[in-house]
Formats: sequence, structure tokens, C-alpha cells
Amino acid sequence: MSPRAIFWIPVAVRFALIVAVGLVGWYVFGALAGALLALAVLTLMVLVQLGYMYQLSNWLDNPDDVRLDDGWGSWTDIFAKLYKLRREEQKNRNELAEWLSRFRQAMSQLPDGVVIMDDVLFLEWCNPVAEEHLGLSLRKDKGMRVTNLIRSPEFIDYIILGRYEEPLTLNTGDRKLVLRLIPFENRRQILVSHDVTEFERLDDMRRDFIANASHELRTPLTVINGFLEIAASEPNLDEATRQQHLRLMTEQGRRMQNLVEDMLVLTRLESIDFPVREEVVDMHWLIEQIEEEGRALSSGRHRITAAVNGPDLRGNADELRSAIGNLVSNAVRYTPEGGTIAIEWTNTKAGPRCVVADSGIGIRPEHITRLTERFYRVDKSRSRETQGTGLGLAIVKHVLMRHQAQLEIESDIGKGSRFIIQFPRSAVAPDVG
Ligand code: ADP
Repeated sequence: MSPRAIFWIPVAVRFALIVAVGLVGWYVFGALAGALLALAVLTLMVLVQLGYMYQLSNWLDNPDDVRLDDGWGSWTDIFAKLYKLRREEQKNRNELAEWLSRFRQAMSQLPDGVVIMDDVLFLEWCNPVAEEHLGLSLRKDKGMRVTNLIRSPEFIDYIILGRYEEPLTLNTGDRKLVLRLIPFENRRQILVSHDVTEFERLDDMRRDFIANASHELRTPLTVINGFLEIAASEPNLDEATRQQHLRLMTEQGRRMQNLVEDMLVLTRLESIDFPVREEVVDMHWLIEQIEEEGRALSSGRHRITAAVNGPDLRGNADELRSAIGNLVSNAVRYTPEGGTIAIEWTNTKAGPRCVVADSGIGIRPEHITRLTERFYRVDKSRSRETQGTGLGLAIVKHVLMRHQAQLEIESDIGKGSRFIIQFPRSAVAPDVG
């Protein structure tokens, strides 16, 4: 049956009933009584309809509190349909609320700031990262104009000029942000903020590194080229001068080699794709090797001692040898002839510890915090004289970071320095004996 028939047939039946009641009344009590009887039934029906309309109106005002009864006639169907509509609407609303909350959660997890504004830049919503980047507070600033909240002149110019295809780089005190405004849905705009501080810092560091490395390589190259030119233009140099030039060229060549080797070591240590290859490191053997190397470098000019009482370590032998070796080589290079160098390997409450102490020239306190920076030297000419590359302590720092160890430096100018490596307790190798 068609919906129209479903609706109209009962209506027709009800009217037929009224007519039938009227006719029966007319037949039994006369024409007037029949008409009155039909009118009474009609009035009753109209009143019932009005009653249901009143119920419907109440329900529409307050659908959560008012309950519709089952209804009569067409009302049963209408009420059932309304209930169904309401259930669907509630379901949609719940789904929308859930979707919105998931969307907000996802936006909150974004590493970038997101601000949603209307067409006249009134703040509608922003995520916590945007609050942090742009100094906004969604709770307090909602509904306020964003140009009144972000008062940087560059940002205001960016909005006024409206060239949104280009991002804006904004310096906000300690941060560098890249902002981009994206219009959407005709009447809304999204502002995305991306923090590039760390990226810029690394970029600056890389640029400095290249500039420093080129500068370091240029000096020995200039020296070697100079001697080569002399050799080419003056073939009759006396043997003593020729030997001296060759010696100086070899020295500069070695300097370049040291520098390139240290740069390669540092680059490899800094690479995150190069994890520590852990092994059990025999510290007795390792310190003995380093002590030997120190003696070779010192050529009898210093008294070098080693006391090994600590445990074996879990770590990488080559890297540890390079780190401790660098400290001993520095001790030799920055301690005048006749001085002492003591290497000590012990276990402490905090974990194993290596101390390299010298009675050398010492370091002024203002330099100490900067010593592990690449190419940082207290005295450039002294470092070069002793074949220093300026990268030794940067290598030490990276090796220690990779072994969760800390470097402490204590120094007295003119009296000597102590370089202390503190390993965590977890670095002790399990005792297999
Ligand atoms: P370099 O190759 O110049 O020695 P490092 O990175 O090993 O570079 O050390 C950085 C600087 O720290 C050195 O140039 C030197 O000024 C200072 N330094 C390092 N070790 C010592 C030490 N034991 N005594 C005095 N100064 C030191």
C-alpha cells in the first residue's frame, strides 16, 4: 500500500464512522438528534487531535523532558517517525562531538601551532602549541581579534598585504617561527606556525663548522703551496734549506691529515645512524695502551703514571680509547717539560670514573664551559704548535654522550687541570669470571 493510502484510508474510515453515527441517530431519534450526534463525535475527534497537537508542541519545546504517548490514528505513525528522527539526530550529534574531540586531540598532538580564525580574524580555536608559540590563551582570548593578540609589526604587515602564498618568518624572542595563513571554507582562515629555531641553530652550526674547517685547512695548504712555488722557481736551493722546507711541508701535511681524520671521527659520532657497538672493554688493557701512547707523545719530557682499580666497562673500546686518549694527549701537550700526568681508573658510588690530571698550564674559568665546542681553543698558536686540531674535546664530548657519561673539568691556572669522566653505574660490565 502506498503511504498516501495508508494515511487517507483510516481518515476516510473515521469520516464514514461519523456519517454512520449521524445516520443511525437520524433513523432512531430523528434528523436533529442525528446531526447533533455526528457533530458530537466530530468535536470529540477534533479535541483528541488538538490534545495530540498540544503534546507535540510541548515535546518540540522540550524533547528531553517530555514523553509522547503512543498516539492514536495517524499520530501513532507521526510520533514514531519523530522519535526515530530524534534518535538519529542524537546519534549524529554524538558522532560529531566524538569526531570533534578526536580532531582536537589530533591537532593538540601536532608539532606545529594551528590557529583557526573567522574571516575577520577573530580567534575561534587554537592548539596548545600555537598558545606556546604565539603567546595566546584559548580560554582568555577566544573571540578576540588575532592582530590584537599577536602585535608584531611584521605579522600585522603580513595580514595587511595579504600575500599568503609566501610564509612569514617571525622572531619571537628566543624562537624563530615560520607562519603561514591558509584561507579555507570561504569564511575561515587557518594560521600554522612552525618552529625552525633548532633547524636554524643546526644550520648555523654546520655553516660555522664548514667555515672553520676551511679556514683550518687553508693555512697548511698555503704553507705547502708556498714551498712548492719556491721549489719550482728556485731549483738550486742549498740542501739544508731544501730539507727544512720538506720538514715544514711534512708537518703541515700531517696537520691537515689530523684535521681531516678528526672531522671524520666527529661526523661519524654525531650521526644518529651510527649507534654504539657495545662490547666488554678491558679497561686495564685500554688504559695501559693509552699510557704507552702518552709516553710516546711526551718522549720522556713528563712523568706519566696510571692507577687502574676500576671495573671493566660496557661500551665501545675504540671510542673510549679515542676519548681518554684525547685527554691524555691534551695533558701532554699543555704541560711544560718536567710536569706530571696521572691517569686514574676507579669505581665510585656514582659509577666508574676516569681522571686525567696534569700539572700543566691550567685553564681560566671563563673558557671551561666552551672547551668542548668545535674548534674552540684558549690559545690558538699553542694548539697549532702542538699539532692540535681544536676538535679533541668535541670528540670527547660526543663519545661520552654516546656512553651516558659526564665530563667535569677542574683547573687552576698555572697549576694544572683535572678532566673527570663519570660513567653511570649501569656502564659496569657484568662480571663473567
Ligand atoms: P686542541 O686540538 O686545540 O688541543 P681540544 O678540543 O683538545 O683542541 O682542546 C680545546 C682547548 O682546550 C685547547 O686548545 C686548549 O686551549 C684547552 N685544553 C685542553 N686540554 C687542556 C689541558 N689539559 N690543559 C690546558 N688547556 C687545555
